[in-house]
Amino acid sequence: MPDEIERQGAPIPRTRRASKNDETVIPDNPNWHRFKMACPFYRERWIGDGEYLEGRPVLYHVICLQNTPPTTIDEQQCCLESKTMCWRLKVKAPARSA
Ligand code: SF4
Repeated sequence: MPDEIERQGAPIPRTRRASKNDETVIPDNPNWHRFKMACPFYRERWIGDGEYLEGRPVLYHVICLQNTPPTTIDEQQCCLESKTMCWRLKVKAPARSA
């Protein structure tokens, strides 16, 4: 297992404890909107240029700076409520025994 981690490089922290100098998979953009109560890696790019998807106007694009964006409304809601840590990591964490 340690060999596998070394091959993949150091893991990218996904918590607010990480310093501002930590790299993200997708470079941040100051024009993207962020939310105080959302994951620190969650961004929205608001648009209004007439883009349509499935017959509906697209209002914004969701961007995850760790390149693991939410794929459903429920996952997006998890991102918006994950102020300190990526919800995907919480799901993967083993359950504690009582
Ligand atoms: S999936 Fe959501 S919670 Fe996880 S790092 Fe990306 S934006 Fe943050």
